[in-house]
Amino acid sequence: MQTSPEPQADYIIIGAGSAGAALAHRLSEDPGTRVLLFEAGKASHPYTPLPISFGLLIDRPGPNWRFFSEPEETTANRKIPVPRGKLLGGSSAINGQVWVRGQHLDYDTWGQLGNRGWSWSAVGPIFKRMENYEKGGDELRGGDGPQGVSEVDDQNPLYDAILDAAEAAGHPRNPDYNGADQEGMVRTQASIRNGRRMSTAECYLKTARHRQNLTIVTEAHTNHLILEGKRCVGVTYERGGQVHEARARREVILSAGAIGSPHILELSGIGRPDLLKTHGIEVLHEMDAVGENLRDHIIARMQWKLSQAHLSYNHRASGLGLVGEVARYLLTRRGFLSLPAAPVMGFLKSRPELASPDIQLFAIPYAIKDVRRRTPQPFPAMGFSVCQLRPESLGSIHIRSADPYAQPAIRFNFMGERIDQETMIASVKMAREIADQAPLKKIRGVEFVPGADVSTDDEIEHWIRSTSETAYHPIGTCRMGPNGVVDDHLRVYGLEGLRVADASIFPTMPSGNTNAPSIMVGEKCADLIKADAVAT
Ligand SMILES: Cc1cc2nc3c(=O)[nH]c(=O)nc-3n(C[C@H](O)[C@H](O)[C@H](O)COP(=O)(O)OP(=O)(O)OC[C@H]3O[C@@H](n4cnc5c(N)ncnc54)[C@H](O)[C@@H]3O)c2cc1C
Repeated sequence: MQTSPEPQADYIIIGAGSAGAALAHRLSEDPGTRVLLFEAGKASHPYTPLPISFGLLIDRPGPNWRFFSEPEETTANRKIPVPRGKLLGGSSAINGQVWVRGQHLDYDTWGQLGNRGWSWSAVGPIFKRMENYEKGGDELRGGDGPQGVSEVDDQNPLYDAILDAAEAAGHPRNPDYNGADQEGMVRTQASIRNGRRMSTAECYLKTARHRQNLTIVTEAHTNHLILEGKRCVGVTYERGGQVHEARARREVILSAGAIGSPHILELSGIGRPDLLKTHGIEVLHEMDAVGENLRDHIIARMQWKLSQAHLSYNHRASGLGLVGEVARYLLTRRGFLSLPAAPVMGFLKSRPELASPDIQLFAIPYAIKDVRRRTPQPFPAMGFSVCQLRPESLGSIHIRSADPYAQPAIRFNFMGERIDQETMIASVKMAREIADQAPLKKIRGVEFVPGADVSTDDEIEHWIRSTSETAYHPIGTCRMGPNGVVDDHLRVYGLEGLRVADASIFPTMPSGNTNAPSIMVGEKCADLIKADAVAT
């Protein structure tokens, strides 16, 4: 092993994604604090500023880790692709840019699970301070934070038809689902500003990267944590074909994401003893919770034909239509290329007696044949994609080898719990009910995915299990809370000098997409580190 001269810092952060970039920005605000940020991927990719790049990068080697799940019976033994961002900004640099905080109840649940300082009254102000919402700040929304957010302003009569149809089906419109109440059919708010993606690389690192006390090292793959007894003192990482060490005077913070963070803990001898021993890894700290508690949204993608070609964007995704859209984007920063993954959404209740929505519906003005190849259907069409907001089924992520470059084994156990099956079936029926309302019915043709053949509960469940994939929201594998991996200050139980700050610490799934909550965790971790440093 070759070792370079050891760089030193007060804090070493592993992973410059949604949480890691926000954390690096906040910690390095104090010029007296030296921060070293390691990122396995490159600094950027030419496509990332384009909002539509979420489709272009979904399966692209380089800026994407391109993981796969294990074949599981619950999803017809398919290996499901699991994209994850591998560049500055992490998954926020390849994601669909849908901006959702979740429900206030989600964070109150985190508090009720024994995590002091994580209920809505504590994290609401953090969501507010991190936002730069184009409509400005108010009691709940932030207008002067680093993270650009705007509402989709694309104009298409299809959107009005969808909003009207949802209203006719009993789902109210909601002017701000990130405000007091999430419920309703809405125009999407997105991490997009002036037609450009607002990743955390753009919003948090661009301003911080010139600071003398912040060093960002890209293409640096962290292999292991270095433990001296029960204290984490640094990391080993590979860069340019050589293995190096870096030392932290105070702490190491793992922000490698819900897949990367438990993976690095296990590679470092922190985890379940029998599993580590199977792979020849010395057990340095026994911890059964590492890699457990994986949750994710399984998403069912439905498609309908549209009777009027101009309502669908299928013809804009290839050929001359695409040429026109490229020109339009270059001139105006608007149009098809400036859209997030879904310009209209719904947060819906499967049963009226529920206290809050349990289903999310994404409405998409085009329909593609294959998620990874992004080939549009050859006729005008639209899509509704649906998921259960708070899945109960638990999976896991564990090493399959001591080789830091071997992908871990991802087991989602999608729809393992009855409540998840029932809610997913209800979500498909609810999408159909909206599509059947007059405002949409008069402009649409047949539902061709899954189609009329799939109608009974058993058929719907079978179709979901045979075709549905992840909505790209893995969380929970370094769960915060009693019997978990980290305490409510994000410190790894039983070790000193080591915290985890990313989506892996979520104890339960926030109701919606997971980028905003991950950034919040990075922000909150900076607060905790600063407060703990003052206290000691
Ligand atoms: C295709 C896709 C679409 C999505 N769409 C949306 C959406 O529309 N809205 C939304 O809210 N959420 C969306 N998400 C989810 C959201 O982006 C993530 O939940 C969030 O970014 C997770 O943040 P994180 O900090 O936990 O991890 P990440 O942002 O994934 O960051 C982890 C970082 O650690 C780095 N890393 C990992 N291992 C190592 C290592 N060994 N050494 C060094 N560095 C390492 C990674 O390269 C990465 O940069 C999407 C995700 C994907 C992949």
